[in-house]
Amino acid sequence: MNYIIEGAQELPVVGEYDVAVFGGGPAGIAAATAAAKTGAKTTIIERYGYLGGLATGGLVILLVGLTDGKEQIIKGICKDTIKKLKQVSRIEKIGPSILFDPEALKLVFDDFIMENDIKPYYHTFLSNAIIYENMVSAAVIDGKSGRSVIKAKIYVDATGDGDFSKFCGIPFLQEKKEKLLPVTLGIRVGGLDTEKVKAYINENHENYRNILKSLSLSVRMGGWITTLHKGEAWFNVAHAENTDCTDTQDLTHAEIQTRKTVHKLIDIFQNEIPGFENGYLIDTSAQIGVRDSRRIKGMHLFTREDTDKIFDDAIARAPNYISGGQGSVQVPYGCLTTRKMNNLIFAGRCISVEHELFDMFREIPCCMATGHAAGVAAALACKSDNEINVKKIDISQLQGILLEQGAVIWV
Ligand SMILES: Cc1cc2nc3c(=O)[nH]c(=O)nc-3n(C[C@H](O)[C@H](O)[C@H](O)COP(=O)(O)OP(=O)(O)OC[C@H]3O[C@@H](n4cnc5c(N)ncnc54)[C@H](O)[C@@H]3O)c2cc1C
Repeated sequence: MNYIIEGAQELPVVGEYDVAVFGGGPAGIAAATAAAKTGAKTTIIERYGYLGGLATGGLVILLVGLTDGKEQIIKGICKDTIKKLKQVSRIEKIGPSILFDPEALKLVFDDFIMENDIKPYYHTFLSNAIIYENMVSAAVIDGKSGRSVIKAKIYVDATGDGDFSKFCGIPFLQEKKEKLLPVTLGIRVGGLDTEKVKAYINENHENYRNILKSLSLSVRMGGWITTLHKGEAWFNVAHAENTDCTDTQDLTHAEIQTRKTVHKLIDIFQNEIPGFENGYLIDTSAQIGVRDSRRIKGMHLFTREDTDKIFDDAIARAPNYISGGQGSVQVPYGCLTTRKMNNLIFAGRCISVEHELFDMFREIPCCMATGHAAGVAAALACKSDNEINVKKIDISQLQGILLEQGAVIWV
């Protein structure tokens, strides 16, 4: 590869905050809201023009993993979100899960920002971290206004892919391409006779699967559900395997491949599935759905042995999928912090967990729960009278505030 040297530049410092949250997905919005509620001057930086991450732009419109099979184990800011969603739009319970409208969620998250006096930077890409010894001293951001810098006492990496931590040189885990879960282009389809489509797919499930297989689509994950709107459904089946979403060329290829798949799929469905004759594509997700990328190596790496442990530094609960969805596990704070940096916390799907257990922690509610904890921890760390160090905060104080803010920690 050829290289060129980009000249050194003076970058304007566009803002100084107590807490800067990078990534406005479920984890990031929960972190920013919690940090602000705990008294920190907070900002949120998001590469797209809306908040919600995969829950909005990825058309992932179902909150899964809210319960341990019996009771709700994720509350706090996630519960506040559901309450707000109900005020602006209809939601629907599907068993223990909650179906919502992604446009309504964008509105709710904008409200969280305004109500909590959080400074938003949309259309802003985090492109580097400037570090000095064990501290991040600034984050480099890019946007239409050019390149600039944000400074904060504490930085929260909620980019899903652990971009911030990568820029800090923190070790991470990532499966080989062939083992990564597929990426998926979500779609919404209108003009359906949904009852007929449902009946056909239920009664002829093998035919439906064969259609997917005829386009080389894996049937190991994904599915479809009707949305809140009449005649409309969400299909989560246009997968691309072997995609490393931290590689720009892989992402590009996956977008092109899955888009082509979607159009072929709709043509076939129109011909093969009764009730789909007048079906049309409403939209494809603005951002391709990434399940699996970097998981940052934290102070604690959550492994199978941890699933029945009680942690002194527990900050949240997650559904226990290795016990068949019954019961829950505790998420320790050590999965959100790193040995290397003292003013960085991570949250969401990039936390420190083994790949085989990853599904328990990557659903939207759990990402909101780890985001909630990261936000409170960040606010506490920057209030410290001594040195700033997210690993030296008072854990019982963190747990106390989380409980006051409605989070669930103990079984
Ligand atoms: C196809 C699919 C189906 C799924 N189905 C379900 C389901 O039914 N129910 C469920 O609960 N979960 C589901 N999930 C999982 C869930 O959607 C995600 O794991 C969850 O949204 C992760 O939240 P997050 O905040 O960690 O990351 P993300 O939602 O990925 O958000 C990260 C945010 O950071 C921003 N960002 C990233 N890099 C940068 C950067 N460098 N600079 C600035 N901003 C940046 C992104 O734009 C994004 O807004 C599904 C996932 C996929 C892909």
